[in-house]
Amino acid sequence: MNFNNSEKSYIRGCENLVGAVNSPVRAFASVGGNPLFIDKAKGAYIKDVDGNKYIDLVLSYGPMVLGHRNKKVEKAVTKAIKKGTSFGASTNAEIKLAKIVCDAFPGMDKVRFVNSGTEAVLSAIRLARAHTGKDKIIKFSGCYHGHMDAMLVAAGSGLATLSLPGSKGVPNQAVENTLISEYNNLESVKEHFDKHNDVAAVILEPVTGNMGVIQPSDEFIRGLRALTKEKNALLICDEVMTGFRSHFGGTQELLGIEADITCLGKVIGGGFPVGAYGARNEIMENVAPLGGMYQAGTLSGNPIAMAAGISTLTELKKQNPYDKFNTVAQKLEEMLLTSAKKHGIDLVVNRFGSMINAFFTDKKIENFTDAQTSDTDMFAKFFWAMIENGVFLPPSQFEAWFLSSTITIKELKKLEIAIENAFSAMSS
Ligand code: PLP
Repeated sequence: MNFNNSEKSYIRGCENLVGAVNSPVRAFASVGGNPLFIDKAKGAYIKDVDGNKYIDLVLSYGPMVLGHRNKKVEKAVTKAIKKGTSFGASTNAEIKLAKIVCDAFPGMDKVRFVNSGTEAVLSAIRLARAHTGKDKIIKFSGCYHGHMDAMLVAAGSGLATLSLPGSKGVPNQAVENTLISEYNNLESVKEHFDKHNDVAAVILEPVTGNMGVIQPSDEFIRGLRALTKEKNALLICDEVMTGFRSHFGGTQELLGIEADITCLGKVIGGGFPVGAYGARNEIMENVAPLGGMYQAGTLSGNPIAMAAGISTLTELKKQNPYDKFNTVAQKLEEMLLTSAKKHGIDLVVNRFGSMINAFFTDKKIENFTDAQTSDTDMFAKFFWAMIENGVFLPPSQFEAWFLSSTITIKELKKLEIAIENAFSAMSS
């Protein structure tokens, strides 16, 4: 396999782009080597600029749940483009997507569209503060909520792969209201509530994807819901990654809880830049123009992005691929574990719906400290061995792998061979 054109693009890209990328995880920092440059993608596959074809388990870090170039989505987007690409005024498409999203979340009466998951979270946090009149936010180590200053503490994948505890350029004042707890450890949340009576909200990934896939225990997630209610703090479920990935709606519903504010992104934009935050009327009425919390966006609710979101969610509802996702993920787990065992490699596989990933450790993974026991050098070897065998994985131990509805038995067979070849090469 050669990567000559990717290498040339990388050298050219470094001249005017920072590290030749527009988001750090794309730089392959933790797996070594130069980043791949992509030419095109279709269905379950993606092709780089050297013509190498891979089964795509990155899927743009989640949005492409229907695979690439879904016909319905492509048609809807093309049709929307012909009507004009941005108006700076409301459209019926925004109302339609808002209805689809609110109908899918029992605790959501109103939603506000923004342009990214980061914007969704920063607005949700402002909203929690506006609603409660309190300032502090509890977050969990290993959870990533976008790159707003206050959330860039103990923030999982991107920072973990660059070995950065936080980010330069974030003033102390920006994070002094951020309290860190340990995922799956309710006591660590109670301790903050015992010390602080000005906690506005607790934010979490209800199932994580940014320290690998980790599910909350029943006791933890239900306890968190009860505790936040008792303390008059809001529970923010950041479902930017998990929304519509394991169920048509939120993971919170599968976990048996209802968030006060939900953040969305990725899938709801069908590959276009869309984020959203939503809640019950009494909370959303704080947002301008109904209330005094200001939040705005020139391109928010962009008609092309709305068309992509509507067609993606409509098609997703029709296809209802969620049982298939579970079956495929279960098969993938079996393949990984069987092959790893055969080659004497320690491996733990975590999965939830269409999100799955493998940790090179023998330890059960329930929080970020556990996740960090994974041997990242082994992951780097595995990553490149999978590339050589035609599978594109996220270039980070701490990032979830994603499934799309276009994956079939054919791809599963190819994955089985790729995994076996990879582990065989790693153990020889
Ligand atoms: N929240 C979660 C859970 C995410 O996984 C991400 C991105 O991966 C974000 C927020 C930030 O979203 P964006 O990259 O669209 O700003």
